[in-house]
Amino acid sequence: MLIKRGIAVSPGVAIGPSVVLGAEVFKIPDQFVPVDAIETELARLRRAIDAVGVDLEENEHVAADRFGTQYGAIFSAHRQLLADPNLVGEIETLIRTKSYAPEHAVRKVIRRYAELLQGIGKPLLAERSNDLLDLEKHLLSRLLGEPRGEVASLVAPAIVVAHNLTPSETASLDRRHVHAFVTETGGRTSHTSILAGALEIPALVGVGRFLDGLGGGETVIVDGDQGVIIIAPDDGTLARYRERLAEQHTLAVRREAFADVVPQTADGERIRVLGNIEFPDEVDHCVERGADGVGLYRTEFLYLGREVEPTEDDHVAAYRRVIAACGSKPVTIRTLDLGADKMPHTLLGAEQADETHSALGLRSIRLSLVDQSLFKTQLRAILRASVEGDVRIMFPLISTLAEIRQAKFVLKEVQEDLEEDGVAFRRDIPVGMMVEVPSAALLAEEFAQVVDFFSIGTNDLIQYTLAVDRAETLVAPLYNSGDPSVLRLIRRVIRAGRKAGIPVTVCGQMSSDPKYLPVLIGLGLKQVSVTPQAIPQVKDTIGRLDRPTAAAIARHVMQLEVASDIDSYLMGRLAVLRGEAE
Ligand code: PEP
Ligand code: MG
Repeated sequence: MLIKRGIAVSPGVAIGPSVVLGAEVFKIPDQFVPVDAIETELARLRRAIDAVGVDLEENEHVAADRFGTQYGAIFSAHRQLLADPNLVGEIETLIRTKSYAPEHAVRKVIRRYAELLQGIGKPLLAERSNDLLDLEKHLLSRLLGEPRGEVASLVAPAIVVAHNLTPSETASLDRRHVHAFVTETGGRTSHTSILAGALEIPALVGVGRFLDGLGGGETVIVDGDQGVIIIAPDDGTLARYRERLAEQHTLAVRREAFADVVPQTADGERIRVLGNIEFPDEVDHCVERGADGVGLYRTEFLYLGREVEPTEDDHVAAYRRVIAACGSKPVTIRTLDLGADKMPHTLLGAEQADETHSALGLRSIRLSLVDQSLFKTQLRAILRASVEGDVRIMFPLISTLAEIRQAKFVLKEVQEDLEEDGVAFRRDIPVGMMVEVPSAALLAEEFAQVVDFFSIGTNDLIQYTLAVDRAETLVAPLYNSGDPSVLRLIRRVIRAGRKAGIPVTVCGQMSSDPKYLPVLIGLGLKQVSVTPQAIPQVKDTIGRLDRPTAAAIARHVMQLEVASDIDSYLMGRLAVLRGEAE
């Protein structure tokens, strides 16, 4: 049995035989062409470019229909790459001046561009090189007449494992047959990862080398909740995961029934279960599952996959889509959380090219307060959309009181501008903050006097409390949600919220994990915001709990000193709640 950890980009569990997608080898027959064939070869290249343009347009429509317009935009970005006169010009020049065969010229130029992106040392740009390699595959397939079809032609249930999957390959996965995928490369914000979420199949990326000993056909478990792949599991592990899979199936079957379930504990405490979304169309996944609204709309994803910055109207259109789907239910729009691992190329100006974009750098609200035109555009858009539903504004990564005051001051300036322009907006729009930096948790009582609500971002709170980079595979085992220090900070924030009478939500990944719900509810939490896929099982777990039991679990947990003890205790309690314990 081999266990490897990766970056979990889509939750759930899958078990099945592995299908190894090898690195695609295009055999380029001739490197050079005779001089008198150059015009014919250039014409062949142009035909291939046109054909790929048509393919990409088709991909764009298919992805937009299957997953939503934002996903289609990934392929329109590929079309823009293809239309780049420099790129095509360089390929043509190599054919014209050096008699390169089109295939050879395509590979040479695209690989050079891809290497340039990889060499800049920015994870986000490195991920974009994958888009270029996707384009190379399309062009070579057209030129060599060998359409790949390998992924799309899978007809039996399988777990796809590969060194890399391109966005096109990911979009072509048929989830009736492909139950999960795992790649050696890739990052959290790559287009491949984003599409995995939309496909709603478990997926891990960035696992590092694990394919060497794999021939295909081995039983593989993919745990998209914990971020692990288990190859050739032993009997005990397999049995445990089969149970989890059965549970997942049961929940999937009961999903429709759960849509109407009002989440409350067995003794009648109403717990609000909201959804986290990245793209407007994902709101439908929340509504289908009967969410109490959107608790976290990560608007920075508006910037992903675009070559130009979204306009104020683009923001408004996205917000209106979400608000309309939610009706009278709340929609919490988080202002841009760009930076660190989420840096769009539209914002990578020359002055930032040498920055590392670390998790401790100029990211999130810090970036918004420095680039206020960007920030104000978004605030105007949120305010304009605010008249159409129950909209709330949330500022991310607040670490000092000065920062929240400054953010609120900018908001006030924007409100005054709108007032002057005679534009309608909701004056008493609730303004909240993410508590995801230990300094904010420590000063929660003071912050509670300044904002209307708290939302605890455990993903970052854990990273900053334990000094463990959340995107770093090598330290992934040190990233423990259940660490006593993290739980103490969470308790502190819940207490401060209660004392000041403001709502507190946990919107980090931790609240999507049913094992932590008893302790969170036991600490007094009344709202969670979770990934849409997790909504049914979160509702299910809440319904099995009662307040005295949750409080007893929380009391016990707060006496434990080590994260692993806390996790095993909570796993045991969850098994009891589910009636699975002997
Ligand atoms: C968090 O940090 O917990 C959070 C919800 O924000 P993000 O994952 O977008 O950083
Ligand atoms: Mg965060």
